[in-house]
Amino acid sequence: LEPKEEFQHSSLTADVMRPRRSDPPLAVLTQEGMTVEEVEALVESTHYSGFPVVVSQDSHRLVGFVLRRDLLISIDNARKRQEGVVGASQVVFTEHSPAPADDAPPPLRLRGIVDLSPFTVTDHTPMDITVDIFRKLGLRQCLVTHNGKLLGIITKKDILKHMANDCQQRPRLHPLQLKPLPLRH
Ligand code: ATP
Repeated sequence: LEPKEEFQHSSLTADVMRPRRSDPPLAVLTQEGMTVEEVEALVESTHYSGFPVVVSQDSHRLVGFVLRRDLLISIDNARKRQEGVVGASQVVFTEHSPAPADDAPPPLRLRGIVDLSPFTVTDHTPMDITVDIFRKLGLRQCLVTHNGKLLGIITKKDILKHMANDCQQRPRLHPLQLKPLPLRH
């Protein structure tokens, strides 16, 4: 996403974000209600660099974003060093955790690793504006919302792939600079 790259396109963020219709749904964490085992299973069944945290699967209201790396390190540390944390422990991303049942293992509190202000755009944001935001802020990923509800995610690589496809479909564009090639006489 070099500043010199011109990207004039009429597509919207909804056309480039993931998941696509044929993809599995967005992999999200809920702010409470998941166990350590469930979080580990979600992380290990995917290769994504991060996971949005939502209020609940029903509402998909955005709470924040957690990096895969931070999740894995925190869970590993807690399992080794934190008294009583086991697979059945609740993972809590909220500020205050509900009192656990008497026989429940202690919760694993992970609010500290959540980015509570992840960058977001709406699905209707024109792609040239989204590209500009990525470029100016040096983003790796950005979340996509619709009416305040989390809808998807878009990464720098998604944008680069989209630009490359766009370029192939328009052969008169230079593949790197995405500018029209000068006409040769
Ligand atoms: P790479 O891992 O190859 O560097 P990337 O930079 O696009 O790819 P990833 O986070 O691994 O970063 O995302 C891979 C693909 O999965 C992208 O198309 C992205 O939009 C999508 N994606 C990222 N996170 C999630 C998620 N939590 N749920 C569903 N899809 C996601």
